[in-house]
Amino acid sequence: MAVPLSFEFFPPKTPEGTAKLRAARQRLYAAGPAFCSVTYGAGGSTQEGTFATVAEILAEGVPAAAHFSCIGATRERVRAQLSTLQAMGVRRLVALRGDLPSGYGLGGEFTYASDLVAFIRAEFGAAFHIEVAAYPEMHPQARSPQADLQAFVAKVRAGADSAITQYFYNTDAYFRFVDDVYALGVDVPVVPGIMPITNTAQLMRFSDACGAEIPRWIRLRLQAYGDDVASIRAFGLEVVTDLCDQLRTAGVPGLHFYTMNQAEPTLEILRRLDLVPHAT
Ligand code: FAD
Repeated sequence: MAVPLSFEFFPPKTPEGTAKLRAARQRLYAAGPAFCSVTYGAGGSTQEGTFATVAEILAEGVPAAAHFSCIGATRERVRAQLSTLQAMGVRRLVALRGDLPSGYGLGGEFTYASDLVAFIRAEFGAAFHIEVAAYPEMHPQARSPQADLQAFVAKVRAGADSAITQYFYNTDAYFRFVDDVYALGVDVPVVPGIMPITNTAQLMRFSDACGAEIPRWIRLRLQAYGDDVASIRAFGLEVVTDLCDQLRTAGVPGLHFYTMNQAEPTLEILRRLDLVPHAT
């Protein structure tokens, strides 16, 4: 059963990283992604890096989405940067509040992602398809689960077209989130974000920071493998393939892979799901 795919990359910081990402993208294009997105600010990357990577993807003939965070930004700066993206041919944005210091710095004119979405719609009309972030396991700074759901609904009411979730390994959290926001009147696609498991320490670090839960049974198994990278990868592949299969069977509107700029972990999951030819 086919499902629309999208792949997320971060802007490389070195010429070697740029070359590796180009090669990874070419391999992933075999899966026919609906679009590829490029993060902004995460890990200290610059907006120039995001724009440059987005430009390369567009030049490769693939639709590209620029992540765009507003924390610390002025309206004037956001207007200018969005105009640049529009002139480059970008038609899709992932509109985010972001986190300091990943954004522009202090003294900004936007408080929440919903302010950015409303601004984009007011200034650029329908020029961009706007994606927003969703948190099935709750954003770590949210006052309460209910407040977080309302914050998500506010982003959609401000004009978002669709959403991509933080990664999760509990499908129930995703299905409940979707049921809850649909009950609140949201009717945009909410695409699950998928994080392949390849490195225990990195996964623990990310998950602590972003509030994604690693279920106890997964965490304990990963920790028990210690430095046995082959076993971690084999187990991670089984877990994440099974997660994707459950989501696909349930009819999710797409799967968005956090590729970490690597082709193979995502491709191997897609091969097992018969979403790419096995020779890919
Ligand atoms: P918001 O939707 O503004 O929410 C932030 C917090 O404010 C939440 O706790 C929410 O409950 C609360 N809130 C919102 N509105 C209100 C309100 N009106 N009143 C009270 N509380 C409110 N980070 C990067 O640095 N670069 C990236 O490229 C990037 N890409 C991402 C892509 C995806 C798909 C996801 C899921 C996350 C990404 N992030 C990225 C992380 C993101 O920047 C952080 O999670 C950030 O802390 C929140 O951004 P947001 O757009 O979800 O914020």
